[in-house]
Amino acid sequence: MGKVLLIGAGGVGTVAAFKVAQNSDVFTDIMIASRTKAKCDAIVKAIGNPNIKTAAVDADSVEELVALFNSFKPEIVINVALPYQDLTIMEACLQCGVNYLDTANYEPKDVAHFEYSWQWAYHERFKEAGLTAILGCGFDPGVSGVYTAYAAKHYFDEIHYLDIVDCNAGNHHKAFATNFNPEINIREITQNGRYYENGRWIETGPLEIHQPITYPNVGPRESYLLFHEELESLTKNFPTIKRARFWMTFGQEYLTHLRVIQNIGMARIDEIDYNGMKIVPLQFLKAVLPNPQDLGENYEGETSIGCRIRGIKDGKERTYYVYNNCSHQEAYKETGMQGVSYTTGVPAMIGAMMFLKGLWRKPGVWNVEQFDPDPFMEQLNKQGLPWHEEFDKDLEL
Ligand code: NDP
Repeated sequence: MGKVLLIGAGGVGTVAAFKVAQNSDVFTDIMIASRTKAKCDAIVKAIGNPNIKTAAVDADSVEELVALFNSFKPEIVINVALPYQDLTIMEACLQCGVNYLDTANYEPKDVAHFEYSWQWAYHERFKEAGLTAILGCGFDPGVSGVYTAYAAKHYFDEIHYLDIVDCNAGNHHKAFATNFNPEINIREITQNGRYYENGRWIETGPLEIHQPITYPNVGPRESYLLFHEELESLTKNFPTIKRARFWMTFGQEYLTHLRVIQNIGMARIDEIDYNGMKIVPLQFLKAVLPNPQDLGENYEGETSIGCRIRGIKDGKERTYYVYNNCSHQEAYKETGMQGVSYTTGVPAMIGAMMFLKGLWRKPGVWNVEQFDPDPFMEQLNKQGLPWHEEFDKDLEL
């Protein structure tokens, strides 16, 4: 049915490649490209399908991307490199007539700032070119937006309160490690918190607001309010929302390490002089931390991510909770990667599948909640991320 080019050969890229290869009726021609070709070749070897092509590409260079797109001629690019490359890849897509999907919004390298404005600014150009760009198609953002769209479509006349709750109840048996790219992860968590209430954004100190939340099959876990990019698009696309917040669990050990890392300056993202060389402390830290891709083997436990929603249906208040629990060990058995990479890579594949099947195809730049959630929800159940619903229960929030 279609030709797909995956960019990025990290944890998420590996899972997305496995899932794309499993759905060969939809993805008939596959290429994996990344900065280090050897990593792409290793993925192909692990999958065991020699028909998958690989290539080296520096995705910071529009010129290199254009040359690659013109030689492989993909219909859609799944961008699971880093958020820094979003705009160069979108630019190359426009130059070559290729559709686009990613899992994280663009971030400039020199300032940790999360907003969609840079990518939304491409809307008219994609529209004029007749190309579709699907933004934020991992789990959160991604499935969190699809869950919300599904709730709005089937269960609510108006959504008023939205809480996205993200629990990783896994144990990788390391003193400190991040579950995806450490640089991107630490930039996100050390930011001020922010949530939406009554038409405005309220800023908090980093991890200042927290409370225990009970997760299915896990129990109560301390959960911290963070800003997360889907809050921006969801409050725009569902204007009845009065309050939207994002919560993530962290263990005490993790938070202690994080505080020390910050206090000693290792979370800095500006360049410093070291022995006549310029280095960025956070990038140096990444080089000495465990590689998130190597966590899978000893990872126990599961993730539990969902949306807790309160609103009105037929004049009556109701609550709705929709979630997925994903086992790190099951993810590892299937793809060699842990649950956080799995919960991101599977939805990225499903988004590209939606596009190739013609179900999510409209010229312009869109967030996932702007498409029909039903076929995506159906695929989540088939592709390893089954979801569960609870109605009219106490949401705790
Ligand atoms: P990794 O660091 O494991 O992988 C990133 C990959 O991108 C690496 O293979 C890296 O190459 C490659 N890469 C980096 N820079 C370039 C470049 N300039 N040109 C070509 N390739 C490049 O990250 P993850 O797999 O953990 O995460 C991938 C993406 O998924 C990130 O954007 C992250 O923010 C997002 N994510 C989204 C989530 C969601 O739920 N929406 C959750 C988790 C992650 P090399 O191997 O050579 O370094």
